Amino acid sequence: MLKNRHLRQIRLLGEKNQAKLSKLTVGIVGCGGIGSNSALLASQLGIKKIILMDRDKVNETDFNRQQFFESDLLKAKVEAVAQKINKMNSDVLVEAHFEQFDLETAKAMEKASIILDCTDNYSTRIDINRFCLKRKIPWVFASALKFEGMVSTIIPWKSACFECFAKKPKNELSCEDAGIMNTAVATIAAIQVQEVVNLFCFGKPNYANALFRMNLLDGLFEKILVDKNPKCAACAKKK
Ligand SMILES: [Zn+2]
Repeated sequence: MLKNRHLRQIRLLGEKNQAKLSKLTVGIVGCGGIGSNSALLASQLGIKKIILMDRDKVNETDFNRQQFFESDLLKAKVEAVAQKINKMNSDVLVEAHFEQFDLETAKAMEKASIILDCTDNYSTRIDINRFCLKRKIPWVFASALKFEGMVSTIIPWKSACFECFAKKPKNELSCEDAGIMNTAVATIAAIQVQEVVNLFCFGKPNYANALFRMNLLDGLFEKILVDKNPKCAACAKKK
C-alpha cells in the first residue's frame, strides 16, 4: 500500500470522503472504449473493489480508443483490464466475468454500490435499468459515438430512470458503422466516474434527472433536464 497515493485528491475530497471511496464496490458493464477508461479512473480513485463484465476479446480495431496493450490482442477484455488495474493499483480488488450482462448474469453485480453502464446497446441498458431498480443500485448510463456522447445518473425510485426518457432507437448505430473517437470515450468516461465521486462524496450527482450531451467537433456541452415519467413502464409502479 502506497501511503501518499491519494494525497492530491484528498486535498479536494477530504479524508472522510476518501474513506468512503475506499469502501465502494463499482460494477462495470462493458470493457470497451468507455469501460476500459472508466475502470482505470475508478481504480486510481482508490475504491475497494471493481467487478468487470464483458464477453468480448481485444481486437485490432479497439486500439484507437480502448486502454489495451498490443500484447493484449485476443485476450478477454475483462482479463486485460483486470491485469492493468492490478499493475496500477494493487490495493483494488478485481473480479472479472467473461460474459454478457443479462438478468441472469447480473447476479454478479448484486453487491455493487453503483453500476457503470459502458455498453453499446439499448436492450442491455434496459436490463441494467430493471436490475438496478429491483436491487436499488444507482447506475450511470454512458454512451459515445462519433465525436458525441451522453451521460445520465439514475438513482432508483428517486430520479428519472432510463426508461423514463430513453426511447428504443429505430436504427441503432454501431461504432463499426458510424465511427468513434478516443477523445469522445475518454471524456464520457471521466464524466461518468466523476458522477461516482459526486454521488458518494458530496451526495449530489450532476446528471440525475438530467442528461449530459456533448459533441466534441462542435464544442457543444449541454445539460438537458429530464423528468420522471408517471407512466414509465419500469418505475411508475410501486416498488
Ligand atoms: Zn422510469
